[in-house]
Amino acid sequence: MPNIIKVKCTGPDGHENEIDIESVLGTDVVLSGTPIETGRPIPQRIVRRCGVCFEGKVIITREMIQESL
Ligand SMILES: [Zn+2]
Repeated sequence: MPNIIKVKCTGPDGHENEIDIESVLGTDVVLSGTPIETGRPIPQRIVRRCGVCFEGKVIITREMIQESL
């Protein structure tokens, strides 16, 4: 089952980007229980470019990832 969260970009229009957690972290982290048990730390934050505009960034925080797991 895909694990997708919606994150708004930092650009003026706040585009909603769908972020696939598994593609961000790597499949094994999500599928094998909690990230702590796998020994692979979740980054404090991950920054991606907005899929719609050029100036916007999509910031995914560790808290957002943990809430979705
Ligand atoms: Zn944008």
